[in-house]
Amino acid sequence: MSSERMAPGQPKPSRIYLASGNAHKVAEMAALAARDGLAAEILSAKSLGGMPSVAEDTGTFEGNARKKARALHAVAPRGSLVLADDSGVCVAHLGGGPGVESAYFAGAQGDPAANLRKLADVMRGVPPGRRAAYFYCLLLLIDEGGRETVFEGRCDGVLLDEPRGGSGFGYDPLFVPDGYAQSYAELGDGVKNSISHRARAWSGLSAWWRGSRS
Ligand code: IMP
Repeated sequence: MSSERMAPGQPKPSRIYLASGNAHKVAEMAALAARDGLAAEILSAKSLGGMPSVAEDTGTFEGNARKKARALHAVAPRGSLVLADDSGVCVAHLGGGPGVESAYFAGAQGDPAANLRKLADVMRGVPPGRRAAYFYCLLLLIDEGGRETVFEGRCDGVLLDEPRGGSGFGYDPLFVPDGYAQSYAELGDGVKNSISHRARAWSGLSAWWRGSRS
């Protein structure tokens, strides 16, 4: 919600600073906040001068999210709400990988196009019955009192042989969610934001938000 569009007398929306330099994640989370009608203004780390550099080396989604959230919290105005997202794609045939290493699957440079290509390559020829995968998202929120709360979401599906579709980001063109015939990247933002791992984690955050502010 932008503060210019607020009706007179309406409380000022709380600002949530997102501990991410990924513009796609920021756009998805702004859309999810709007979906759930949160009185929150979603701001990217850019508004605080950029996301501090953080080594995502804890080996867990929660550990990495905590590091990112705390790094941005340290440079945010006192009493700010800060939210970090750590996410990835987990493939049964790869023993759950790339999982928490999704951003660096093809190397330390974290190249999304190379990651997508590598996943397509390693799965080439794997039969349909062994292509199950799920996307996982962990959100870690630091609230105004410095308390940390975690929300999780998962979306199950299968991996295509070749990437398809032009919307979204990362591994979206390779992943078909259960119940659909198209990839996340073909379904587009509207459908993705109604079923995705991130949307499901955000539903938990919205329930927490309503409970803590009523
Ligand atoms: P991190 O959460 O910044 O460590 O990176 C997550 C990795 O998983 C990146 O390589 C993303 O491209 C990928 N990823 C996370 N969420 C999504 C998604 O919604 N669609 C496609 N790829 C994703």
